[in-house]
Amino acid sequence: MSYINENYLKLEDSYLFSTIAKKVAKYQEENPYKKIIKLGIGDVTRPIVPSVVNAMQKACIEMGNKETFKGYGPEQGYDFLREKIVEFDYKKRKIQIDKDEIFVSDGAKCDTGNIVEIFDAANTVAITDPVYPVYLDTNIMAGRKNIVYLPLTEENNFVPQIPKEKVDIIYLCLPNNPTGTVLKKEELKVWVDYAKQNNSIILFDSAYESFITEEDVPHSIYEIDGAKDVAIEFRSFSKTAGFTGIRCAYAVVPKTLKGYTKNGKQVSINALWNRRQCTKFNGVAYITQKGAEAIYSNEGQKEIKENIKYYLENAKIIREGLQNSGFTVYGGKNAPYIWLKVPKGHTSWSFFDDLLEKAGVVGTPGAGFGKCGEGYFRLTAFGDRENTIEAIQRIELASRQ
Ligand code: PLP
Repeated sequence: MSYINENYLKLEDSYLFSTIAKKVAKYQEENPYKKIIKLGIGDVTRPIVPSVVNAMQKACIEMGNKETFKGYGPEQGYDFLREKIVEFDYKKRKIQIDKDEIFVSDGAKCDTGNIVEIFDAANTVAITDPVYPVYLDTNIMAGRKNIVYLPLTEENNFVPQIPKEKVDIIYLCLPNNPTGTVLKKEELKVWVDYAKQNNSIILFDSAYESFITEEDVPHSIYEIDGAKDVAIEFRSFSKTAGFTGIRCAYAVVPKTLKGYTKNGKQVSINALWNRRQCTKFNGVAYITQKGAEAIYSNEGQKEIKENIKYYLENAKIIREGLQNSGFTVYGGKNAPYIWLKVPKGHTSWSFFDDLLEKAGVVGTPGAGFGKCGEGYFRLTAFGDRENTIEAIQRIELASRQ
């Protein structure tokens, strides 16, 4: 008999994007000449920048040459990339991170999902609601029962609040998907202090860090004193440099970060994660890492920043357009996500249907991100400019009907 991991049966079916796809397909069938504008899924639309393309082409040639061919690389990532990350993403912000605290990977989705396995299932985990669904589902798969939800609501300005019960592991995603919220330094410090007092660990997902525009918003949790003793940071090249189809990310696991055995013995989390990666992961492709390295060149920086500026301009168009039409809107200033309150009388799904029907625009119902997402709706700034402008004009028109 082959017994399965029954925790998988406890997962709620993720109908969100498949339901959206079905509804959109049905609408298109009924309205074959109508152009549908999709501002729902969080994938980029701008192509890979020339610096990255050139670097990857060069790396391809190297792979085809006997003298420069590479086989298996280091599981933790090549030094040339880890050094650039240390220099540009941390040292420039006056944060001291060592090269061996950086673990290059094929995605923040994998990292935030895989990290679960180095922690005991008995830990109590705090997860925001609404949330990027990977955190919750991977904890359920691991059999974790103690999950505390941190509601993100209009009343708390979508800022996660310290829970009444003690929690051991805390997921924070900032800038936030789906609400687009960021935390100021003092607000993030509250969590670092909590983690220190309670020997908790913060899993800090900053996949959208490059969209931060405001001065007093930390780009890294390590900008907060003492955070290296309590936090793992996850970063991704997906949204920063359009790598959603190339796949490259990294996790920062400080050497000062400790977990505990049941007997109270301290264990290095960096050593555990290194062991996990070396056993289960064979590193990211050389060609990919060469592409990622290129974004740190002067030209690469200029090119990727242009793209981010483009998406942020889309976000502004969406935010301001909706506000002019009378919507209450959050996010979109330091994030590619706009979180809008659905009009009175609507649920997030009925608003989805209404918007599709009246405007031919597709977004994501907030209820798909958790109970507290009900009553809200997510639009993304990753579309192209023309479509974004047209979508907002259509929503403005529809809202007057
Ligand atoms: N973390 C958050 C909060 C995300 O929204 C996403 C993607 O949408 C990811 C991680 C996934 O990143 P990656 O493409 O590096 O796997």
